[in-house]
Amino acid sequence: MNEYNGKNAVITGGGSGIGFATAKLLADGGARVVITGRSRATLDAARERLGGNAVAVRSDVASLTDLDALADRVKGELGTVDALFVNAGIATLTPFGATTEEAYDELFAINVKGAYFTVQKLAPLLNTGAGVVLTTSVANVVGISDTSGYAAGKAALRSMARSFSRELLPRGIRVNAVSPGPVDTGALDATMTEEAAERFKAERVADNPMRRFGTPDEIARAAAFLAFDATYTTGAELAVDGGATQL
Ligand code: NAD
Repeated sequence: MNEYNGKNAVITGGGSGIGFATAKLLADGGARVVITGRSRATLDAARERLGGNAVAVRSDVASLTDLDALADRVKGELGTVDALFVNAGIATLTPFGATTEEAYDELFAINVKGAYFTVQKLAPLLNTGAGVVLTTSVANVVGISDTSGYAAGKAALRSMARSFSRELLPRGIRVNAVSPGPVDTGALDATMTEEAAERFKAERVADNPMRRFGTPDEIARAAAFLAFDATYTTGAELAVDGGATQL
């Protein structure tokens, strides 16, 4: 119950889905948690459900000004950080022939540049022994229709887990990636038509060896394992995907 007492965590995109489930797991276990996101209403609702161990900060990962302000706020609220979950992301899925420059730039600004500078700006606050966890995706190791931009961005994060690991190792900080399979968090519904989202989800379940979606909590437990318990693991990617990339 008090497994994370005295620990401090920052979770980008912590107001919903996988990020929220991770914030709940850690806050329930006694950690102090800063969650971020773009929607004030979502953040307020999440903070309410997380209780007194949580602080919700409106911060856009695509804005370096926001990330600088976030680092200042985290320093004021928590002092130092034991777990950084770089989780904020969008899933814009289109056939590559139909991807607009605007959609491509937005995807990379949030999912790739956002993750890169989140780690850069918060790294000075990380304690010795801290764990950074980047959220990648099964899409970075298998070819799934309509995911070309998203998958390429997640492959970039997979690569960052290795190079950040090397640079942060002298400070005793580990960097790993958690790679979720399909989790029905509503992210797809926000970016696709209802019909396209239903078709895409049905295909993912049919393809999956376990024939089901994962739950946000199943990803959260893996992220917490990588952040706190995987003390001899760095630069790795943990697939939490019902076997989708393994069987
Ligand atoms: P979600 O939409 O519930 O969570 C994404 C969060 O990121 C939201 O809280 C959103 O507000 C936040 N966010 C988006 N853009 C932001 C920005 N510019 N600045 C700050 N916050 C921002 O969806 P989720 O499924 O929980 O996704 C979490 C992560 O998991 C994402 O990186 C996603 O790519 C990844 N992922 C999800 C699945 C899945 O099937 N759901 C599979 C593989 C990977």
